[in-house]
Amino acid sequence: MLYVKLLAGYVLFGILSFLTIATFTSRFTLNYIKKDTASSLYREAKLLASNFAANYYQGAMTLEDISSHFYAISIYLDADIWVVNPNGKILIHSPSDTVPSSAIVEEFDITAFGTSYYQVGSFFGTFPEDTLTVFSPISINYKAQGYLLIHKPVNELVSLKDGFLNISYMTLAVIFLCAFVVLGLFIYSICLPLRKITQAAKDYSSGNFETQINIHTNDEIGYLAASLNYMATELSTLEEDQRKFIANVSHDFRSPLTSIKGYVEAIMDGTIPYEMQDKYLNIILHETERLNKLTEGMLELNKYGVKGTMLDISKFDINHTIKMVAQSFEGTCKEKRVSFELILTGQTSFVSADMSKIQQVLYNLIDNAIKFSHTGSTITIETTEKNDKVFISVKDTGIGIPKDSIKKIWERFYKTDLSRGKDKKGTGLGLAIVKEIVSAHNENINVISTEGVGTEFIFTLPLYHGE
Ligand code: ATP
Ligand code: MG
Repeated sequence: MLYVKLLAGYVLFGILSFLTIATFTSRFTLNYIKKDTASSLYREAKLLASNFAANYYQGAMTLEDISSHFYAISIYLDADIWVVNPNGKILIHSPSDTVPSSAIVEEFDITAFGTSYYQVGSFFGTFPEDTLTVFSPISINYKAQGYLLIHKPVNELVSLKDGFLNISYMTLAVIFLCAFVVLGLFIYSICLPLRKITQAAKDYSSGNFETQINIHTNDEIGYLAASLNYMATELSTLEEDQRKFIANVSHDFRSPLTSIKGYVEAIMDGTIPYEMQDKYLNIILHETERLNKLTEGMLELNKYGVKGTMLDISKFDINHTIKMVAQSFEGTCKEKRVSFELILTGQTSFVSADMSKIQQVLYNLIDNAIKFSHTGSTITIETTEKNDKVFISVKDTGIGIPKDSIKKIWERFYKTDLSRGKDKKGTGLGLAIVKEIVSAHNENINVISTEGVGTEFIFTLPLYHGE
C-alpha cells in the first residue's frame, strides 16, 4: 500500500529529525553557547584586569576596594571573579566577601590554558563540577603580575542550551504537524485516485470494459485516468467488432455449407431423382465457389493487416488498365446487355501504384456496378487529372445505396437489404478489400449514391513524376 509507505516515511522523517536535534543540534548549540559566553566573559575579564586589578598591584586600590567593585559585577554576571597571583594564591574571591587568605590553587599553571583564553574543566581540581574559566593576565610593564579569572558553571550553560533545544523541539513538532497535513493532502490527491485506477485496471484485465474512472483533475493522474478510459472504450469496441466479425464469418460460411449438406444428403438417399441431380450438383458447385470466394477474400484482407508492406509500386498507364479490366467483363456485359462508356484523359495517364491491386479495385467496383445495374444500362468510367492526382470514377445508374447503409458498405460482410435479394453470391468483402487497397496507397475513396438512381465511386491515385 502506497499510503502505508508514505506514513512510514513520514514517521521515519520525524524520528530522524528528532535524533538530529537531540544529538547534532544539542552539541553544536552547547559549543556555541560556551564559545559565546567565553568570549563575552573574556572581554569582561580584560576590562576588569586593566581597570581595577592593575590598580592593586600599583598600590592605587586596596583589595577590599576592588572586592566591593567585583561583588556587584559577579552578581550581575552570575559568575565567580578571582584574582590570583602567578603562584596560585587567591587574592580576590568574589562574590564571597571574605578573601580566604590561605586559599591557594594547587598546581596552578597558566600555561595549561595553551593558546586559548578559556578552559572547561575542574580548574586544577578546585571545582567539583565542570566549569568554564576565562582568564586575563594583569600586566604591569608588560609583565604578568597576576591573573583575573572568571568562572561560570557549565551547568548553567547546559540549562540555557536546553531552553534553546525546547524551542527547536517545539518548532519540529509544528513542522511535523504541517507535514502531516501535507501528507494527508498528498494521500487524498494521489493514493485515492491511484486506487480507483488500479481497481479499474483490474476490471479491464478481467474483460469488463464498462468501468469508467471518475477522475477529472488537470494533472498527470487525470490524464492517466482519461487515457485509460479512452483505452477501455477502444478495447470494448474492438472486442465488439471482433465478435461481430466472427458472427458474420460463421454465418456466411454456414449458409452455403448447410445447403451443400442438404443437397448431398438428398442425392445420397434418393430424395432427388437421378435426372434432377445435375441441377442440384450445379447448385452445390455454385455454393462451393462461393465458399472459395469467401475464403480468398478473407485471405486477401488478412494480407493488409500490416499496412503498406505488401505494395509493389510501379509506373503504369491507368487508362490502359481500365480498358483491360473493362474488357474482361465482356461476357457478363453481353449477358446483361450492359455497356461501358470510357471517358479517359488523353492517350495515357501514368500513375505510380501497385498495378495488380489497382486492377482488383477496378474489378470489384465494376463488378458491383454491373451487379447492381438494370439490364440495358450504361456504366461510365472516367479519369480526370488534377493536382498531381488522377481521379478515377466508376458510375452506374442502378439500384443505389440507401442513405443509412452508405457508411457501412466498407465493412466486411456488409450487404444492403436491396442487394441481398438481388445478389445471393456476393460475400460483402469486395468493398472492404477496395478500401484496404486504396488506404494502403495513402489515397482516398468516396461514394456518392442515391437510392433508385445510381451510384458513383471515386478514388485517387498519384500521378507518376519524372522519367
Ligand atoms: P462481393 O463483392 O464479395 O461479391 P458484394 O458485392 O455484396 O460482395 P461489396 O462489394 O463489399 O460486397 O459491396 C457491399 C454492398 O454495398 C453490396 O452488397 C451492395 O449492397 C452495396 N453496393 C456496392 N456497390 C454498389 C453499387 N454500385 N450499387 C448499389 N449498391 C452497391
Ligand atoms: Mg462486390
